[in-house]
Amino acid sequence: MRSIIFIAPPAGGKGTFSDIICSKYNMPHISTGDLLREAASSSSDMSSYIREQMKLGNLIKDEIIFDLIKERIAREDCNNGYVLDGFPRNIAQADAYNDILKELNKDLGCVILLNIPKEVAAKRIAGRISCPNCGKVYNIYNEEMKPKKENMCDNCNIPLTKREDDNEETYNVRYNTYIEKTQPLIDYYKNKKVLFEIDSTLPINEVVSKIEEIIRGD
Ligand code: AMP
Repeated sequence: MRSIIFIAPPAGGKGTFSDIICSKYNMPHISTGDLLREAASSSSDMSSYIREQMKLGNLIKDEIIFDLIKERIAREDCNNGYVLDGFPRNIAQADAYNDILKELNKDLGCVILLNIPKEVAAKRIAGRISCPNCGKVYNIYNEEMKPKKENMCDNCNIPLTKREDDNEETYNVRYNTYIEKTQPLIDYYKNKKVLFEIDSTLPINEVVSKIEEIIRGD
C-alpha cells in the first residue's frame, strides 16, 4: 500500500480521513499532533515547551518533530505503508523527510490536499469534540459526525472533551501558520508530481472513495 501524506488547514479533515483509511486498510495513523499531545502530557524536559506552543497555535521546533517521525516510521508496523496526518508542516520538514525516507529505504507515496474554505473549517473547530481515551473525533454541527449519545464517546462511553487549541483566537494563529508555512508544500509536491486535491466539504463517503481511487492509482 502507498503511504499517504494529508495536507489541510486546521480542521480540514486530516484526522477524520486518516482514521477512516487506516481502519479500512489496517495502516498505522501517524498524527504528529497526537504524538505531541502525548509528549506534552508526559514529564519530559520538553513537555512544558510543547504544551505552551501548542496552546498558542505555533509550530513546534523541527528537531523535535524529526526525532518523533524518524522513530515512529522506522517501526515494523510501517513497513507496508502508513498515513501521515500533520507532517510535514513546512519545507524544512519536507526536505528532512526526504532524507529520512532515503535512509530507511522507503517511498514517498502520495500527497493528498484536502481543500476547505476558512469559514467552513472555523465552524468545524467550533463544533469539534473528541474522546480523551481513544481520540475519536466528533462534530456536533455535522450529522455524520455526531456522537450517538450526546457528548459521550461511542466507543468508550465516557464524556467527550474540547481540545485546548480549538478556540477562535488560536484557530486564527494556526490558520495563518498554515498559509505561511504549510501552503508552500502544495507547489513543492506538485513539482514532484505526487499531489492530489480533494474537496473536503463533500459528504464523508464521497471524500473516502476519492481517496481510495488515489491509493489504488486509478
Ligand atoms: P494538529 O493536531 O495537526 O492540528 O496539530 C496541533 C498542533 O501540534 C499544531 O498547532 C502545532 O502546534 C503542533 N504540530 C503538529 N504537527 C506539527 C509539525 N509537523 N510540526 C510542528 N508542529 C506541529
